[in-house]
Amino acid sequence: MPAQRHPVIIVGAGFTGLTAALRLAQRGVPTVVLERDEQVGGLASDYTLPGGQQIERFYHHWFTSDQHVMDLIGELGLSDRVVVRPTNTGLYFANTIFRLSSPLDLLRFSPLPIWDRIRLGWMALAARRVKDWRSLEGVTSAEWLRRMGGDNVYKIVWEPLLRGKFGPYADRIGAVWFWNKLKLRGSSRGAGSAEELAYFKGGFGALAREIAISAGAAGASIETGRSVQNIVRSPDGTLLVETDAGPRPASDILITIAPPLAAELLAGVAGPGDTAWLNSLRSIDYLANTCLVLELDRPLSQTYWLNVNDPSFPFVGIIEHTNFEPATSYGGRHVVYLSKYLAVDHPMWAMDADATLAFALPHLQRMFPAFSPDWILAHRVWKARWAQPIVTAGYSQIVPAMQTPVPGCWLATMAQIYPEDRGTNYAIRDGAQVAGMIASALNLQPGVWKGTIP
Ligand SMILES: Cc1cc2nc3c(=O)[nH]c(=O)nc-3n(C[C@H](O)[C@H](O)[C@H](O)COP(=O)(O)OP(=O)(O)OC[C@H]3O[C@@H](n4cnc5c(N)ncnc54)[C@H](O)[C@@H]3O)c2cc1C
Repeated sequence: MPAQRHPVIIVGAGFTGLTAALRLAQRGVPTVVLERDEQVGGLASDYTLPGGQQIERFYHHWFTSDQHVMDLIGELGLSDRVVVRPTNTGLYFANTIFRLSSPLDLLRFSPLPIWDRIRLGWMALAARRVKDWRSLEGVTSAEWLRRMGGDNVYKIVWEPLLRGKFGPYADRIGAVWFWNKLKLRGSSRGAGSAEELAYFKGGFGALAREIAISAGAAGASIETGRSVQNIVRSPDGTLLVETDAGPRPASDILITIAPPLAAELLAGVAGPGDTAWLNSLRSIDYLANTCLVLELDRPLSQTYWLNVNDPSFPFVGIIEHTNFEPATSYGGRHVVYLSKYLAVDHPMWAMDADATLAFALPHLQRMFPAFSPDWILAHRVWKARWAQPIVTAGYSQIVPAMQTPVPGCWLATMAQIYPEDRGTNYAIRDGAQVAGMIASALNLQPGVWKGTIP
């Protein structure tokens, strides 16, 4: 019989923590997930509409190339809940909405002269031909996009998107980040080259709950409403996770929250030689996101994903979810997200739902002249402080390893997804990977060790 051990404790029940819990539990490792929120799913969690249907707090979809998530869904026996549909992408520029879903739409994009339209279309193909992302590592997005598409395409199409998404960080964003976006969108296409995206019937939150149920069935314990406040070592050297309900001993700890927060949790157990590493975790910046969700009695537009290339409009994207998953799935409600990435000193970060709506209304009416506030059945604002890591040029130099210098402590976060960008598909990949690393470090063969959770 192996000796009694403490469980692996996972901080956070987003897709990374849940997948890691599932994989550890399947290997017979006692695993406890502690989640601050009252529900699982993290950034991809949901809320309940008046009719009882669940919908994401922040808009979510998958690309058809998102293989890790599809494999996991298949393994859970839920593939029949995945829907793949053509989507409709647009771009708002000079008070006009342009459709930009297919190569033909690009050729019709009149704000650019015809030669630049061809260059714009060529960029997506060229991005897919870049085989080694390292060749782009030291270059910023702005430099690379200008070089590829010329000044005109940059000024009209890319610069407003970069500035809209990254605000004060726009000039520092690495070319690798943008290359990935172009490549991903180009790879999620069906017949006729129209974009196709995938969704989970019942929403991403429902999938998170399914993973949690499977992890629980495999032996993991998932506690919601449990906030981790610190990590310390007891006098006998045992790792202790301090929570709002007291300390919990752990054999290993996997942290899935943003590196600057992880640094604060780990500061007390890090060694004297770990200061530079802690500071490097702290140096990884994130933008926040504030998302105004409108539930309407009718459609706002025909477009699913509208990029806003108008700096005077305060949101970078308008995502009309029910032009992807139909309103009939939500008791007839049409759901529209207005998304804004921002630094937390931006005035919109402090606005509540009513203030955000009041601020947005005149802009919405300018964009959609037929729109009337009477269409709004309900509105909400969701905010995420740690929404998007700032992926600068040369980012590979600061990406932290999953195995930290603190014995028994592991890190798997959105900020480590590189050269890809954050997303549930990669959270699932990395959750499984770090679980494998922890199990190897515990010297476990799948299913061999059967301890009990103290
Ligand atoms: C606006 C927006 C749109 C997005 N759209 C898409 C999309 O279309 N498709 C896609 O695949 N991905 C999308 N993403 C990204 C996706 O949501 C994330 O990549 C993924 O959910 C990250 O999962 P995670 O587990 O790594 O982190 P998180 O989801 O951030 O999970 C971390 C968890 O830790 C918990 N936590 C924090 N502090 C503590 C503490 N002290 N104690 C205990 N628990 C704590 C949090 O509550 C959270 O549940 C989007 C993200 C945003 C913000």
